[in-house]
This record gives sequence, structure tokens and C-alpha cells, in this order.
Amino acid sequence: MQDLERKALAILKKFYGYDSFHPMQLEVIEHVMNGNDAVVLMPTGGGKSMCYQIPALLQPGCTIVVSPLLALMKDQVDALVANGVPAAAINSQQSESENREIIEHVFKQNIKLLYISPERLIADMDQWSQEIRISLIAIDEAHCISHWGHDFRPEYSQLGLVKERFPNVPVLALTATADRLTRLDIRERLNIADAKLFIKSFDRPNISLSVVSGISGRQKLKRIVNFIESHKDQSGIIYCLSRKNTEDLAKSLQSLGINAHAFHAGMATSVKLKVQRDFINDDLQVICATIAFGMGIDKSNVRWIIHSNMPKNIESYYQEIGRSGRDGLPADALMFYSFGDVKTLMNFANNSGQVLVNIEKLNRMQQYAEATVCRRRMLLSYFNERYDHDCRNCDVCNNPPERFDGTTLCQMALSAIMRTNQSIGFKLLIDILRGSRKSEVLAGGYDKIKTYGVGHDLTTTMWNAYLLQMLQLGLIFIAYEDEDHLKVTDYGNEVLYGKRQVMLSKFYYDNYQQKPSKKTKQSFNFEGDVDMVLFEKLKLTRKAIAKARGIAPYMVFSDKVLMIMAQEKPTTKAQFGTLYGVAEAKTNLYWLQFTSVILEHIKTTKGR
Ligand code: ADP
Ligand code: ZN
Repeated sequence: MQDLERKALAILKKFYGYDSFHPMQLEVIEHVMNGNDAVVLMPTGGGKSMCYQIPALLQPGCTIVVSPLLALMKDQVDALVANGVPAAAINSQQSESENREIIEHVFKQNIKLLYISPERLIADMDQWSQEIRISLIAIDEAHCISHWGHDFRPEYSQLGLVKERFPNVPVLALTATADRLTRLDIRERLNIADAKLFIKSFDRPNISLSVVSGISGRQKLKRIVNFIESHKDQSGIIYCLSRKNTEDLAKSLQSLGINAHAFHAGMATSVKLKVQRDFINDDLQVICATIAFGMGIDKSNVRWIIHSNMPKNIESYYQEIGRSGRDGLPADALMFYSFGDVKTLMNFANNSGQVLVNIEKLNRMQQYAEATVCRRRMLLSYFNERYDHDCRNCDVCNNPPERFDGTTLCQMALSAIMRTNQSIGFKLLIDILRGSRKSEVLAGGYDKIKTYGVGHDLTTTMWNAYLLQMLQLGLIFIAYEDEDHLKVTDYGNEVLYGKRQVMLSKFYYDNYQQKPSKKTKQSFNFEGDVDMVLFEKLKLTRKAIAKARGIAPYMVFSDKVLMIMAQEKPTTKAQFGTLYGVAEAKTNLYWLQFTSVILEHIKTTKGR
């Protein structure tokens, strides 16, 4: 083993309690410590921070970390300090005297990692260049510098000056955004044209993926409630399309006794902060949020994400589900998808700045929602990543769709559309097919047409699902310019007149929960059994410690560490200190409280 690797591993154990590096971390560390620039692309949870924190701790001087999100900055500094790493932040939320005091500490070489906002770095760097020995400049969320990225920030645009000012200090740009143009742009704009690219797989194998389509309203609420009940005491986020949706859903959930709250940009800052804090502290289980929630949240034990509606593109979807399972333990992502979503999103897209691009992105999202192949394969292929096997952790892999000859069924629908002169939408079509006596049907005289009631043995939900497939297969399309009426394509006409056959995937009324699973869900192996009773006790201990110290529970230890603790049951300080994820500083602080609980637990369960 090389000298550097040995030293890096020792630091990793001492300050973080980990025994080995994740793929690519050590390569990046070596690269920047040799004085080179780099661009690192890793998915959320991939372990980007270690790529600059370890060099910071191994080298003399101070590492500067540029970050756009104040909340995240504070979180990271708190977590570092909890692990015994001398870190601090300079930003506009602190008073000038606080900031000045921190700079003094930096001058005195008491700080190894200094987090700073981009505008502040640009403003202050000329003053410091003589005084501070800078070991490395890390630029987090580096995609914010690019107009191609989905999150351009003007404050980032001047960061190219940094390399000019400090030509001999290596620059490390980090992001979880994958696309090719952004990548190239980052290098150019940061003035690090020769920086080496490190790209880690975007796969998040611990997140299970499911989609439920064609249901809405009360049924959806029921499914959400079931889902939450099967995730007892586990934190999760429900993403909704509008502020009103978040509030309505939160209210419905509350009335059913679920510990939920809404979160959106229109709420008062004080309320938002409280909701966020309660969620982080495990005092609030469920957040019903618009996309505004999540950016500044670094909670590692978010166990599930629900999309109450389909998101507008795969990038957003992937970023949002990526907020779950950051500790590497299993997490569940469930998305609801209906025709109504497509309609709403199509409206958004049509009124957006880049209509064509956004419609194309929406189409790709829709294809994902309707996938009949492994969903993870689709996702990763979207991000241009090679992934040549089925994941066995998505609903399609666990329940491969069965196909059947759906020609007759399609003909019923197509015929009904033709006989009403292609002047009806989804809802009315289904009513006609099912022989409804609704006034709308009777008033239009639709009960007189030949196809009235021919589809009565399928439920509305089933018709919805099959019509969506017909839409996706290109038998029909929606004329958005003509009150969303359904029109039959040439291909649809061929089917209608018996010239072509259509295979549909069988719809299961409850294809997410009730259809017996063919393959068992991928299990995450903790060798030996985790004692769940002890795990719950350890969680309570963690919460008590967090309260007393005024920090978030996951900053004491992650769920994963507690799981391992519940499995290994350390009873001495020495045993405790060797556990995965238990750093030296935390051993000293917490060993007694946790081992006492474990000892007590062993005593009380022995007699049984
Ligand atoms: P990112 O910034 O890429 O989203 P983080 O740097 O926050 O990811 O790391 C995600 C989680 O993985 C953190 O809880 C971190 O402590 C943990 N982690 C990072 N590197 C390692 C490692 N080598 N071994 C174990 N856990 C690690
Ligand atoms: Zn799969």
C-alpha cells in the first residue's frame, strides 16, 4: 500500500469511522493532492465531500469550499465539527464580526475547511491571497456555473477568476448533474480546461422504483395512506404539483392521524424553517412539498419519496428520488401517473421558454412512467450510462407485465371515438364505453351509438390504463389545440379495420401491491439479524442526545450506523470505537450512552 493511501485511510477512520473508500474517492484525492484540477461527477450520496475533506485534513493550510446553499453549508460544517474536524463557514447569515473572527482563525491556521458563498469568495480573495495558505479550492454544485445546467446561478459566473488569482492551487469542481454539455461548460468557465473528469455511475441501486398509473382522487389518497402505514416511523417526502395540492394532501393525511405537513415557497419563512427542522429532527414524518423542498436538505435517512404526480422531466425525477436513501440503506420511490398529469405538464411546457425541449423531456418522462422494461435501465440509458442487466429492484423487474392480444379492446375504444366524430376526451369516452347514465352522456345522445356500453366489464381505472397504452403506442393522440379531444391516427385506423394486431400489457387492478411478486425484492445484506427492538431503542437514545446537543439526529449517527450497532451490540468503548461510521470524537462522546442501552437490552431479553 502506498504511503498516501495509508495516511488517507487513517484519517478516514479517525474522523469518519469508515474503513475503506468508495469507488473513485481515492483516485480523486491522489489526483488533487498531486496539484491537479479535476471535475467530479457523482450521484447524490456518492461521497463527493470526502474528495476534498480528506485532502484538506492531509495537507497543511486551509481548503476553501464554495457552496451556493447556506443551509447546506451550515449542515456540513456542523457535521464536520461533530466529527472533530476544524471547519467553519463565512456567509451573509452571520454577522460581520462573526465572519471576521473566523477569518482570524483561518489566518492563524486553526481552520482546515472553510465554506464560503461564491460572491463572498470573489469579493474577499484579493485580500487573502497573501495571508492564507490555501491547499485546495473545491467548488460544490459546480453545474450552477453553466447555462446548460438546470440550475444556473449568476453568483457562480465569476468563479473563473479564482484560477487566475490562485494559479497554483488545484481546483476541484463537484456536481451530481450528468449531462455532457454542462460537463464541458464547467471546465471552460472555471478556467480549468485540462481538468481530469471523474465520472461515477449514477445508479442508486438501493432505491426501489415503482409507478402506479391511471388512478386519481380518493383512490390515490388511499394508496398513499397504505404506503405510509407500511413505512411506519420512516421519514418521507411527497412531491405535489402545486402549492394547493401540498396543503390539501397534508390536511387529508393529518385528519387520518398521520404526522404530515405542507412545505412550499409561498409559506412564511418561519414556518418553513420549523417544518424543515422538525423533519430533520425526526419530529415530523411526512412532508408534502412542491419542488421547492429538498435542495438544502442533507438528511441521510429519508426512507421514501412519493411523487403524487408525474414530474416534468427525468432530471427532476431523479434528483428528487435521490434525496432518499443517502445512507445506502433501502429506500422506496413511488410515482403516481395519470393522464391529467400529462395534460397539466403539457400546458406548463407549452408556456415555457423552451417549448420543444421541454415537450421532448416530458415525452421521455412519460415513456419512463409507462415502461414495460426495467425502469432503472431506462433511467440510466437516459443519462447515457451503460447498464446491461435488469435491476431486480423495480416494479417491472419484480412483476414483468403479461401481454395479451388487445386488438378487440382497442377497436371498441377507436370505434367509439370515430362514432362521436373525434370530439370527446378521455373521461367521456370511458363513460360511453362503460354505458354510464351521466347527464353529459345522455345529453350528447351518446347512449344511442353502437359502441355505448360495450366496455362495461372493465372498470374506469382499467380503461384509463389501456387508453394510456393506446396513446403511448400511437393509436390515438390528444389534440391539445382542440379541447384535448382524442383523435385516431393512421395506425389506429389500421387497427380499427382489422389490418393490424395490438399487444397490450395486462393491467392489474393493484399491480403495485396485490399481484403476487414473482421475484423477491432485492435484500440488503446485513449478515446476521438486526435486532429491531434494540434498533428502536438506539433511535430513541440518538434522539435524546440530539435534543440535548441541539443537533439533528442523523448527525449523531446515521440509520445505517444504528443498524450495525443493533447487530453487533458493542458493550465496551473499544468495541464501540471500531464500528462502521463511528469516528474517534464520537466514540468519546457517545460510547457510554449507547453501550448502556445495549447492555440493558441484553439483560432484559436474556431471560426470555
Ligand atoms: P454527496 O455529496 O456526493 O451527495 P456525501 O459526501 O454527502 O455525498 O456522502 C454521502 C454519505 O456517504 C455520507 O453520509 C458520507 O458520510 C458517506 N460516505 C462517504 N464516503 C464514505 C466511505 N468511504 N465509506 C462509508 N461512507 C461514506
Ligand atoms: Zn428493474
